[in-house]
Amino acid sequence: MLDYQLIRSARRKTLLLQVKQGKVTVRAPARLPLSQIKAFVADKSAWLKQKLAEQYLTSQQVNTVKQVTFTQNSPLFYLGVEHSLNIEFAQKSAIYINDLSITVVLSYRQQSNIEAFHGEAAHHELIKQVRKKLSAFFKQQLHYYLSEKLPLLTSHCQLTPTSYKIRFYKSRWGSCNSRGELSFNYLLMLLPSWVIDYVIIHELCHLQHLNHSKNFWQLVEYNCSNYKRAIAWLKTHQQQLIWS
Ligand SMILES: [Zn+2]
Repeated sequence: MLDYQLIRSARRKTLLLQVKQGKVTVRAPARLPLSQIKAFVADKSAWLKQKLAEQYLTSQQVNTVKQVTFTQNSPLFYLGVEHSLNIEFAQKSAIYINDLSITVVLSYRQQSNIEAFHGEAAHHELIKQVRKKLSAFFKQQLHYYLSEKLPLLTSHCQLTPTSYKIRFYKSRWGSCNSRGELSFNYLLMLLPSWVIDYVIIHELCHLQHLNHSKNFWQLVEYNCSNYKRAIAWLKTHQQQLIWS
């Protein structure tokens, strides 16, 4: 029999099973008979064992510093809101996002590829696959975001790039070269939209000043009055935004 913590609540209407950091919690309506709860847990025991095994595999390190680890239940930002990363396996891979969590579903095929490795290597392979899935997703999301927002900000700043592309940078959000080509880091999707917009405006202003001179910052301020707040947000959260 599995160990679990039972939390009863008057407000709760249905049974809920949670597995977090290797611990099982059952949330139940206040007066539901214990026999029904036990039957429910027994019924889910195969799922629970799989979940516990996955978490054992993915949560061996406890994070004291909040960095992106891509492990089960680890924090991950999306549009400026901290979400909890949930890793699952199913027939087809997918990504689902709600207010609280980002669920990365890897396919059974990916799962068997991961399980072909052992111990630490399997852990690394899992992280690699999760990260790859998230990267592709953020890239696509930023593509949607830019195709909507860039024309608006271009006309707002009256500065138009020759072209732009989306890529990964370890330690910068975007870039602008002397040919007027802009690049944006797909990790921009981790930031609140008002901070993303600051980064876009920042790069657009480089079309006029290809430096960080006083004139450049004046132009940024003119087009983005809360740019100091945006820079402060980036600084405050930098640890949680780095994908090394
Ligand atoms: Zn710059």
